[in-house]
Amino acid sequence: MRRAVDEVVADLLAPVLRLERPSRTGWRLVSWDAEQGISLTLVRGDTHVLVELEPRDEALDCYARTARFNVCVRNPFDRARPLGAAARLAMDQLVRLLQERESRLPVVERPAVSRRVAVREIEVDRVLIPEGFGHYYINPYVGCIIGCEFCYVGPRADMSRALEGLPALPWGRYVDVKMNAGELVRREAQTAPPGLVRLSPILTDPYQPLERKYRVTRACLEALVGRGFSPVVLTRGACVVDDLDLLRQFPSAAVGFSVPSDDDRVRRAFEPGADPVEERIEALARCHAAGLHAFAIVQPVLPMDPQRLVGLLAPHVEAVRIDRMYGGDRVRHLYEAAGMLEAAADDFFPRMERELRAGFAARGIPIDEMDDMRSLVAGRTAAP
Ligand code: SF4
Repeated sequence: MRRAVDEVVADLLAPVLRLERPSRTGWRLVSWDAEQGISLTLVRGDTHVLVELEPRDEALDCYARTARFNVCVRNPFDRARPLGAAARLAMDQLVRLLQERESRLPVVERPAVSRRVAVREIEVDRVLIPEGFGHYYINPYVGCIIGCEFCYVGPRADMSRALEGLPALPWGRYVDVKMNAGELVRREAQTAPPGLVRLSPILTDPYQPLERKYRVTRACLEALVGRGFSPVVLTRGACVVDDLDLLRQFPSAAVGFSVPSDDDRVRRAFEPGADPVEERIEALARCHAAGLHAFAIVQPVLPMDPQRLVGLLAPHVEAVRIDRMYGGDRVRHLYEAAGMLEAAADDFFPRMERELRAGFAARGIPIDEMDDMRSLVAGRTAAP
């Protein structure tokens, strides 16, 4: 089964998709994607701009709003770098174009909400998505059965499903399995210059429980091995250790675990579908012992004993990233249900972050500011 959303979005963006060759103004389209909302990467000289279209929501900050979208814009390689004048001009043109063309989007009737987990086996046209500077990402699946309620991608992924007329299932209750992903990556890797490949940036967990059945992530890795690519895997799934032998065949591979607390009671309250903390740490230790670049993402920072978490992670990681819970009121009920409302207060994250930073610094573990740990497998694949 192929997805209708690609055709719908290709029609919306038709004038931009022609920018696969540089335009008069020098901008060129690097890639586009329609499975986690709509995203585009544009480049001009060495300036990359990532444009992400989310469902319109006036409560959220964004670059601009159209009738249907929040338009979010940033430099994908340096979140802090402000947009230059040329980029702002191009983005303003893009926003006008969206305003003119968004009425072309269908208003599709969606079937009623179902309570069953929906697993679709689909075929796709593209898997290895370029991001610029020889970096790529791969989503072997769309959706994640681990289903953390705080996951940020749910509303965007739902926007893509709405464009396709699929049922409005809650996040965590559906997964599209890209059955032909491995075969496609094998073809794409023949012409794509080698570089760093993120699995998976946000839309799915590459080692969610379904991977044991479908092995799509494994097929993608098999297609990349021996071709000069460097995978960076981020997961909450301990079954990544099934692929240790394969990952070791890459000259430089990184595996990271999201571990937002040391306390498994907290895990059960906030991320009940994810593997227990102890299993994740054990798997991380095995990745590290196998010679892979191992890292941890403490995000979103949840109630914890920060020194204990440092003690659990530090022996097994080369770097760590720390970030807060985003989402405000959307996730407040999770703290209420867990009886941990004090951790939703404004001063909680800065306090934890200070302690975590001090703890990791004392152990000589650097804090990485990028959420995918590109610097770990840097060298020849590093972005400027
Ligand atoms: S494991 Fe990751 S991708 Fe899956 S629901 Fe949780 S945060 Fe989202």
